[in-house]
Amino acid sequence: MSRRTGRHFLQIPGPTNVPDRVLRAIDAPTIDHRGPEFAELGKAIRAGMQRVFKTKGEVIVYPASGTGAWEAALVNTLSPGNRVLMAETGHFATLWSKLAARLGLEVDLIPGDWRSGADPSAICERLRADSAHAIKAVCVVHNETSTGVASRIADVRAAIDAARHPALFMVDTISSLASIDYRHDEWGVDVTVAGSQKGLMLPPGLSFNAVSPKALAASRQAKLPRSYWAWDEMLAHGKSGYFPYTPATNLLYGLREALMMLEEEGLENVFARHRRHAEATRRAVRAWGLDVLASNPAEYSASLTAVLLPPGHDADRVRRLILEHFDLSLGTGLGKVAGKVFRIGHLGDFNDLMLMGTLAGVEMGLGLAGVPIRKEGVQQAMAYLGACRASGERAAA
Ligand SMILES: *Cc1c(COP(=O)(O)O)cnc(C)c1O
Repeated sequence: MSRRTGRHFLQIPGPTNVPDRVLRAIDAPTIDHRGPEFAELGKAIRAGMQRVFKTKGEVIVYPASGTGAWEAALVNTLSPGNRVLMAETGHFATLWSKLAARLGLEVDLIPGDWRSGADPSAICERLRADSAHAIKAVCVVHNETSTGVASRIADVRAAIDAARHPALFMVDTISSLASIDYRHDEWGVDVTVAGSQKGLMLPPGLSFNAVSPKALAASRQAKLPRSYWAWDEMLAHGKSGYFPYTPATNLLYGLREALMMLEEEGLENVFARHRRHAEATRRAVRAWGLDVLASNPAEYSASLTAVLLPPGHDADRVRRLILEHFDLSLGTGLGKVAGKVFRIGHLGDFNDLMLMGTLAGVEMGLGLAGVPIRKEGVQQAMAYLGACRASGERAAA
């Protein structure tokens, strides 16, 4: 393989580009995780993550990928044979449901078309029909990374309340936290699952549970076996800033820096930036004459856009050509939409020109692959981003 010049464009929807500031923060000597210096790090991270989750409750950090935090949410709160209600929004929701089934839970999976989010009225209906309260948890993926669809979590909460059902509410925010508005306490979520390598701008290797008092109470009755994932040990150490076993110390340095960066920008500005880049991307897709996979504008993801190719065109061939020619990585189609879509990640540490470079690579790649498009997507995205800047300047003047 010949040497590639310049920066690689990593525009998959996670892992995302790790900012230099975070890399520099990670590049430091590993310290004693039982020493005095570590406690300050542990406490700073706990407080910072509470602000990102928008919770005053407990936050638990695991040295694990997001899948570990999925498992932790279930094994800490449920017992063998318990029934859980899930919504088949796409590949990640399906994986979480399979994980639940492997743990010995009974999964009710509400089928979905992989183009829309969890349906609050379908959830309400299932819960109303469950007058014996056999369902112990409702689990929803906030941002379905395989489809680019964001479920309306506040509406799902309202549906659970409307059914007057006591089930726990668990939400996967692995590709939405710190990219799309999320409010653990206000939306009455009991366990929020998150990971380090998407909106939080870190390498893979950390994951999180934010835990409500109701989930903590459930954990005292829950009978699924757990040890590595056990919240009680984590919480017993957590208040003092320590961990029961060796944490991923250097990733925690990176997390402290990433939290500072998010606070410098301001979370609301971070969300607005993601919305702007998502809108510019959709404008490009439409100008090309293609469709986004998400069918409902109220559920468009701000983290990523899944682009549907016309029948007869292989999305993975387009991705391969783009990688070969332009050193740009795009997300592959997963599960039921494999080969039919590619995904443009626009989350994490990202700016207007990185998006323009990405869209230029996609437009050129679609041309190389012989996909019939109008070569006007880059132009439309650029016009939109320029107009956003101009209105910001006018507002400031
Ligand atoms: C990436 C992702 C996961 C999987 O996380 P891993 O870190 O790969 O274990 C789960 N859910 C969603 C929504 C994701 O985007």
